[in-house]
Amino acid sequence: MTDLKVVKAEEGEIFDIELDENLLKANEEIANENMELLKKHNVLAIDVMGATGSGKTSLIEKLVESLKGKYTIAAFKGDLTTTIDAERIKKHGVVVVPISTGKECHLDANLVRKALQRIDLEKIDLLFIENVGNLICPSDFPLGSEKRIVVISVTEGPYMVIKHPFIFADADVAVINKKDLAQPMNVSIKKLEQDIYEINPNVKVVATNCRSGENVSQVIQALNL
Ligand code: MG
Ligand code: ZN
Repeated sequence: MTDLKVVKAEEGEIFDIELDENLLKANEEIANENMELLKKHNVLAIDVMGATGSGKTSLIEKLVESLKGKYTIAAFKGDLTTTIDAERIKKHGVVVVPISTGKECHLDANLVRKALQRIDLEKIDLLFIENVGNLICPSDFPLGSEKRIVVISVTEGPYMVIKHPFIFADADVAVINKKDLAQPMNVSIKKLEQDIYEINPNVKVVATNCRSGENVSQVIQALNL
């Protein structure tokens, strides 16, 4: 593949606290409890993951607009310190709980559990959980949701998929956003799609323009909603 000598951590070396096995196990246990709780109340929870600026919030806004007549919807929005996205979603008239992660670059199951205590699950059918803008560690931290959407955009360049394989491996739907900008960015949607299918042949891929709403109905279909 390459003649370059790559720096790597050897086994047993400390290089990232997030790889601590106990921490991941504790997160998974809480995620399972969240899933049980959501099932008990018939709430379908959907994670929305992707880099900052990829269009996660725009996608949720459009999904909420299309689906709020059919389902009672709530949304959680994880961010380090801001509530900008939470306010955007709230404008569409649904319950929104902002979650502040402080310095943490991802949501975890414990924060989601705390947010779940803030909403009346009996009254909710559908819950969107927008993660912090990050394509790396959210894949290690399940939250208890039933489905996962990954959003990338063509403005992030041609290598977003192959550089972040793990997040696509367990996604149900992959959204390639800002399709209208593919040509000026000289990025091939077809190639991105192929990269995604190579990692996960079972994922449903949809190219969208979440600003105009183009193909958002296909995302809804892919989610069976
Ligand atoms: Mg956002
Ligand atoms: Zn993180």
